[in-house]
Amino acid sequence: MRTIFPSPEVTTAPRPPLSAPRKTSCEPIFSTQTANSLAMIIITRPDATEEQIQHIVSRIADWGLRAEVSRGEMRVVIGVIGAEDKIRQKPLGAFPGVESVMPVLKPYKLVSYEFRGTASRVKVGDVVVGSKEVVIMAGPCSVESEDQILSIAQSIRDSGAKILRGGAFKPRTSPYSFQGLGKVGLQLLAEARRESGLPIITEVMDTKDLELVAEYADCLQIGARNMQNFSLLREVGRTQMPVMLKRGMAASIKDLLMSAEYILSEGNFNVLLCERGIRTFETMTRNTLDLNAVPVLKAETHLPVVVDPTHGIGIRDFVPAMALAAVAAGADSIMIEVHNAPEFAKSDGEQSLLPKDFADLVRRVRCVAEAVGRAV
Ligand code: PEP
Ligand code: MN
Repeated sequence: MRTIFPSPEVTTAPRPPLSAPRKTSCEPIFSTQTANSLAMIIITRPDATEEQIQHIVSRIADWGLRAEVSRGEMRVVIGVIGAEDKIRQKPLGAFPGVESVMPVLKPYKLVSYEFRGTASRVKVGDVVVGSKEVVIMAGPCSVESEDQILSIAQSIRDSGAKILRGGAFKPRTSPYSFQGLGKVGLQLLAEARRESGLPIITEVMDTKDLELVAEYADCLQIGARNMQNFSLLREVGRTQMPVMLKRGMAASIKDLLMSAEYILSEGNFNVLLCERGIRTFETMTRNTLDLNAVPVLKAETHLPVVVDPTHGIGIRDFVPAMALAAVAAGADSIMIEVHNAPEFAKSDGEQSLLPKDFADLVRRVRCVAEAVGRAV
């Protein structure tokens, strides 16, 4: 069969080793789209008639696009050439005689590694995520009281955490569970930041709360349940604040990248992607931490990758092993839930580490980080 497909427009720049210094500019190194790109491939069924093939070709021409027909022994393959955005809107799979339609270029652009050709760094307060240093974020699932958040902030900082986490607006499966302290929780986080010097990350669940949360947070967290809340993604995209986007529990890696694309497409490139476990058939753990996502994301996108082993496995005793594995797999940051009195926690006590166990984990993370050319 004659080959009609030029190699895709996108080339992959050699990736620097994780330990190498990286550029930080957000300028694209080249555009991935041209009006003369081969954007889509249509594969016809073995029994497609000549009439059906001609119909597809003439409809493509009617749209102002170009078709290149390649005839094999069993099938005809039609390359569609033209502006990709325009081609994606056409219902190419709807024609009689079509077996499958395959896009040639990736559906995500701004988040793709090729768009920048180098890894991005995102600053949360003064802390840089995406450099040689593996950044440890830690704190309780929910902010519960002044004593609780101040005590945890101090202990995790003393152990080596660089960012304090804590939810003030909590996405809970049951409407009867603790929903977070709201504004009071944000004020307590701000106090903990003042006392500890650590920047804070906290979840925003709703566009109506964005202004309030943005007033207090150094980094906005979009939770797993909101990964495809597209109006929220667009709104945080209109800020220039760092955003950590967590992978939905039933979302593919590609879905996560497409959701991040919403944020970048509004002009905000300060995005961290977080693997936090997905739902599988497994019942012995809360979720299945998909560490495959780490090297895949590092190859596909320039955005830094965070791993949350706490929600990923959901069982306190097993969190450290998965945290170490995440660092070995290449995570730029890990997020760990820590509570000073887990048995009294208002959410996620069963998966939260005690401060002393967290301190021990940081020591071990340091060893693994050094073994893979990183640092803590
Ligand atoms: C959390 O970080 O406490 C949380 C609710 O996370 P997720 O959205 O991943 O469930
Ligand atoms: Mn939690």
